[in-house]
Amino acid sequence: MVIVGRRVPADVAAGRPPALRSRVLPRHRRRVGGAALLLLASCGGGEGPAAEPSPDAARAPVAPEDPRRPLPTGTSVPLEVLAALPPGQMTPYAEELLEEPIELAGCPGVRIVEWRPTAGREAWTAPTWAAVDLLDVTCQVAVAAFHDFVIEETGLSLAPLPPWQIDVSLLPSGREGAVPRTLADHDGRFLARTKKLDAQDRPLGIWGYAEHRSHFVYVRNDVLEEDGSTHAKVLAVVAHELFHAMSWQSGLHDALPPPASAADEALARAFTIAIGLE
Ligand SMILES: [Zn+2]
Repeated sequence: MVIVGRRVPADVAAGRPPALRSRVLPRHRRRVGGAALLLLASCGGGEGPAAEPSPDAARAPVAPEDPRRPLPTGTSVPLEVLAALPPGQMTPYAEELLEEPIELAGCPGVRIVEWRPTAGREAWTAPTWAAVDLLDVTCQVAVAAFHDFVIEETGLSLAPLPPWQIDVSLLPSGREGAVPRTLADHDGRFLARTKKLDAQDRPLGIWGYAEHRSHFVYVRNDVLEEDGSTHAKVLAVVAHELFHAMSWQSGLHDALPPPASAADEALARAFTIAIGLE
């Protein structure tokens, strides 16, 4: 059984209106191809320096909880259990799955199957309806804008997106110190992901990742800031990773000029700008 929220009201996005399709697309006219594409090609809509909330920041009350059906509390697996899980499996182990997936009601086929709060930051990193609604709206905007954006940017004809299934994992960033099974678990859970290295040959941190074979999208769990406000960069990463997923599932990725992964990355970056998330 899955938990289904009501359809999200238009004002939920707190300053990021969902009805973006018609007014946003004209803002972005950059053609993707050639040199411009190469300049834009480095992966990392989900990559970049951490911007963790200061532990000394004044603590503001988190927004009151939504009166709808209670959500799963999230899976707080003990660190010693996480550390003992075998490396190399990117998808969640049974211990990490929510008791019930949280389906995004406005985004058919997309569901949250794992949501692990960050220890000591549960108030704003555990499941809440406020966060679910933001994810839902972001997904709706991304799906609604995808087709026209691709045609506008690439000139490719594209069939409508087929029915799809995307499983979403919301994870600690791992920048707080406890790394096992987080987005920073470069040598364990994310051993097999495509990595960019820094000057010291260390993997750059990520805010999100799309894995096409398993149809999974991984993003940080702090959809909300500590004060309950929207964490805009996390939502931009959500849209970025969903773009990659849609690109694969629509056949766009395979139709892009080589190297397709670079072209896809450039488009994903342009996409989040076009829909007003960056
Ligand atoms: Zn990307």
